Amino acid sequence: MTANRPTKLTPMMEQYLHIKDQNPQCLLFYRMGDFYELFFEDAEVAARDLQITLTSRSSANSEFKIPMCGVPYHAVETYLPKLLAKGHNVAICEQVEDPREAKGLVKREVKRILTPGTVVEDVNLVAKGHNFLGALCWDAKSNSGGLAWVDYSTGDWSGMQLKKQADLWQWAQKMSPRELIIPDELTPPPSFALSETIVLKKPTKAFFDLKRSTEKILESQNIVELGALGLEKSNELVRSCGALLSYLKQTQKSELTHLSRFKPLNLSKHLILDDITERNLELFKTLDGRKGLGTLWQVLDHTLTPMGGRLLAERMRHPWRDIAPIIETQNAVEYFFTNDTLRNDIRTALDLVYDLERLSTRIQLNRAAPKDFVALRQSISTLPTVRSVLEKVQTGTQQYTTMDDEQKLTLPQWLTNLLKHWDDLADYHTLLDKAFVDNPPNLITEGGLFKHGFHDELNELIELSEHGESKLDELLQEEQAATGIQKMKLKYNRVFGYFFDVPKGSVADVPDYFVRRQTLANSERYSTPRLKDLEEKLLVATDKRKSLEYKLFQKMRETMTEARSRLLFMADLLAGLDYWQSLAEAARKWNWARPALHNETHISIKDGRHPVVEAVQGSSNFIPNDLRVDNKRKLLLITGPNMAGKSTVLRQMAIICILAQMGSYVPAREANIGVADRIFSRVGASDNLAQGQSTFMVEMMETARILRQATKRSLIILDEIGRGTSTFDGLSLAWAVVEELCRKSNGIRTLFATHYHELTALEGKIAGVHNMNIAIKEWGGEIVFLRRLVPGPSDRSYGIEVANLAGVPANVVKRAKEILASLESNSQKSNQVQTATTMSGVLPGIPEAPTKTKAAKTPPVNTEPVNHPLVTALKDLDTDNITPMDALKQLTEWKLLWGERNDAN
Ligand code: ADP
Repeated sequence: MTANRPTKLTPMMEQYLHIKDQNPQCLLFYRMGDFYELFFEDAEVAARDLQITLTSRSSANSEFKIPMCGVPYHAVETYLPKLLAKGHNVAICEQVEDPREAKGLVKREVKRILTPGTVVEDVNLVAKGHNFLGALCWDAKSNSGGLAWVDYSTGDWSGMQLKKQADLWQWAQKMSPRELIIPDELTPPPSFALSETIVLKKPTKAFFDLKRSTEKILESQNIVELGALGLEKSNELVRSCGALLSYLKQTQKSELTHLSRFKPLNLSKHLILDDITERNLELFKTLDGRKGLGTLWQVLDHTLTPMGGRLLAERMRHPWRDIAPIIETQNAVEYFFTNDTLRNDIRTALDLVYDLERLSTRIQLNRAAPKDFVALRQSISTLPTVRSVLEKVQTGTQQYTTMDDEQKLTLPQWLTNLLKHWDDLADYHTLLDKAFVDNPPNLITEGGLFKHGFHDELNELIELSEHGESKLDELLQEEQAATGIQKMKLKYNRVFGYFFDVPKGSVADVPDYFVRRQTLANSERYSTPRLKDLEEKLLVATDKRKSLEYKLFQKMRETMTEARSRLLFMADLLAGLDYWQSLAEAARKWNWARPALHNETHISIKDGRHPVVEAVQGSSNFIPNDLRVDNKRKLLLITGPNMAGKSTVLRQMAIICILAQMGSYVPAREANIGVADRIFSRVGASDNLAQGQSTFMVEMMETARILRQATKRSLIILDEIGRGTSTFDGLSLAWAVVEELCRKSNGIRTLFATHYHELTALEGKIAGVHNMNIAIKEWGGEIVFLRRLVPGPSDRSYGIEVANLAGVPANVVKRAKEILASLESNSQKSNQVQTATTMSGVLPGIPEAPTKTKAAKTPPVNTEPVNHPLVTALKDLDTDNITPMDALKQLTEWKLLWGERNDAN
């Protein structure tokens, strides 16, 4: 900017540039009277991004025009979010002395710096989402790194130390902070470029200095040693935490007293869902980056409070691994699930609760507007209502619709505990209720915030400023009665102020305490001590009221800061309640069931559905499917044409496990889940071309990571591995991956969807491999998707039929069929069909596969009976627990599936 500066500057411009030079990375909002003005480049940027008029101002050497734009000070909050959303930082520079008292130029100072990662106002935040500021560092010597994040708006902060830099970046991507602070020498991987995070390189090493960081943490947490937070051996995490604190101190210019206790994220307690899995399963966003329809969040979220929403998001990001907290949650969810009236009553009450955490933060940081106190009062006022809804259950005074009598009488332990620690915050409610009017103005300097009756001195000032005229009238009437001079009037002029005007004829009746001020032709004008007193009070009442209200507001703020820990305690408690009721509401709405959980590795799901596909298509259009993985079937090899529903089945399994480990009900008739430590996914094509990596490269990198990191407790879903290369390469890779997954840790639970039919030959050859396919029916040369997952391999790809369905012109489809027929006959002739049989000859270590493997030419009916899917299905049939009607249905279905297909062949 220096180049564009005029050579001669006015004193004000000098001051402006001085302050701007101290805040080079911010748009400087420079207060001038009732406006915040921006100059030079800042003005150009702001005018463009805010769509406001760019003007100019003459400099001291008047031919130089300084670009300038401005916004009214009282409307600044409406402009700031737009700038923050575009990633700008904004420094708010205030006049710090009264211009009337200033000698020369008014002193100005930057009072706060707003950055996207540190905002606290609701307009800048997503209610049900955290807004994180992150810090990441890496130490090559110890080969470890730290990632820490803080939500400044709630005071929550956490972090972890990891041994692999790639993992660290992946976690940074998963936590998706709005801003991420990193040391100067570190470079984010290319994949980071596409995230919404703004990466800030801090040139100063001091930010990440271990000693300084330690001091900062001890000071902010009011502790004497890092061991109190479990950080004594985590130097890199300490350094990242230190960088967060330094940055906050630098930008916020206030004490960091509202930060809660630092809680490191203990990965061993959670089901780990890496960023890629989170994206592939479309938990929060669809694959093309949209929020809302098409995401699990949209189906699941029925929370009513921002705190409940944030808790739900957090649990979805980090479900549990231990069974105990899951069961506890399930019990609470079941309570709300079974009891519709209770749930509805709680929902009605929770709907009136505002963001207690963020309200409390703004109060703590002195950034609260009067309406925040009213919102706080409103939220606190619902606490007794929520409590009494819960207590009604306890006393059995409410007839709840679906709960049986036994349950009604015994209160679950979690509810007893909750009520035992319940705090209505009645003292603070009384105070806030007595204090604030219902619709206070936004400004705290203009008065009108407090109720009459709240404060004695203020009462009088309110009386005077609002009822001054009538006070004067009252006094006049009193004097008229006391003197008997009915014609006495009360008048006002600028020289004498208020005075009594007494006609000449009545002057003799004027008492001694009347002091003559002026004589006119027809009347005398008097003042009295009471009139003078009242006048003075009237004149200063409005001003006094404004400044008293300002002081009382500050006092109120201080009082409410003392309530923070109690407020947060109740905020937590309400968040928990909201979480339970939300899961119960979702379960009711979508007709889900409570899953059973255990520490074994088998998973069995009856009539499982994909909650999102079902929600989009409607329940009646979704075909449920059974799924089972166990010791004998560790790896389900799922074949079927494109569009049959393979990906849906894969994702459905993963989502059901995630929901179960959050303590939620699941979209199934019955589910039995062996809890997982991680879910890995390699689904669909995630093209990272923009990051300079080919689809195949990304796929292989992800596969490599899965093979390295998966344990026997993991669940893996792999969709069409190996497509991005030649058929031979791809098949060999997919084959080897199947082998490895079945070998490692005695087999890792995997759902493997593939187009390589050759792989289906591995069933019976590699322990744990089990074929399944998604059934289709051929009908008049076209295919009908049945969406049923059945045992056995699919017979062929049906690629041409799917192309036909998709509307590829008939002549192209016809030609493709001819080419296929000729290719098939040629390959038969030359005996070069790349079946598993021939593959096993060329690739070392690949086990012998059955000779008749190419399913297209050897439909299942022709394989030996022992391999026929019908036999497997029969083996699977639980004849002890099936009704005659279901058995008949099953028979009809098999007939439909295998009978007709074989006829066709
Ligand atoms: P594939 O992975 O085999 O190509 P998808 O899983 O992408 O197929 O499914 C294609 C479409 O089929 C889905 O978008 C969905 O609309 C529909 N679908 C999948 N499974 C089912 C089901 N069980 N019931 C109803 N529709 C389904």
